[in-house]
Amino acid sequence: MTIRDLATVALSEHSFAVEDESFDTGALRSRLALALERAAVPTEQVWAVGIGYDEDVDPPDPTVFTGAPVLVDRHVNLLALAEQWTHWRSVEHLLYVSVGETIGSGIVSCGRVHHGARGAAGGIGHIRVRGHEDVLCPCGNTSCLEAVVGGRALAEQLRAAGLQAQTAADVAALARGGVPAAVQAVRGAGRSVGEVLAECINFYNPGAIVLGGELAEASHHLLAGLRETAFARSLPMATRDLVVGPARLGADAGTIGAAVMAIEHVLAEEYVDRAAHRDNGG
Ligand SMILES: [Zn+2]
Repeated sequence: MTIRDLATVALSEHSFAVEDESFDTGALRSRLALALERAAVPTEQVWAVGIGYDEDVDPPDPTVFTGAPVLVDRHVNLLALAEQWTHWRSVEHLLYVSVGETIGSGIVSCGRVHHGARGAAGGIGHIRVRGHEDVLCPCGNTSCLEAVVGGRALAEQLRAAGLQAQTAADVAALARGGVPAAVQAVRGAGRSVGEVLAECINFYNPGAIVLGGELAEASHHLLAGLRETAFARSLPMATRDLVVGPARLGADAGTIGAAVMAIEHVLAEEYVDRAAHRDNGG
């Protein structure tokens, strides 16, 4: 077994809903204990805990587990990390773009997640797309990418055309089924996302752009639209070796990303040095 395989071995899995906008620390603590019990792993064998959280909830309290470091990061960053770790090891600079109900991105730079000064890096859902000055976004601005072509906007557009669509997944399913209005909507979304990504490509020069999120389930149509604008508006040097493709991991990508975050922390040079020092009685 290689270190890379470690991240993908699940000993126990169970889900529970987070009801409010923040994690209930007590509930999370008991779920962690239950997960360890089910996996028959004693607490003292835990080296680190990795937790991902969605942007619309507060980060979980890192004191939720004692005896090992607790690492927390935004879900989309963990998806970026998971993809890079499992399928894009040779790509040092990767942009993971999630297109679904919300639109956001995770940035891997030099093989590490780039968080920015306050952890807000990657918020491409609120970059402006031209020609939609009448679309108001909940953030208070107008013409934000997410408000124009996020899953909610597309579903609304399709309902107005007489189709049944409530979510981004519904839109993707209709597009996959070849429903013309849905195909057109997803392709259009791809073009708008591509317009924003063109700026990101020029600015950041990623080696790969990986598309995830519910709309990426109709990745063929989304990518077709995206390629039309992203490449046309980017500098040739920035796109010369650029690879754009759908995410390859499935539903467990977030778990893998959280595990990778924990493993990388444990294997970080200073951590290993400290542990060795401690074991030598230092
Ligand atoms: Zn906005």
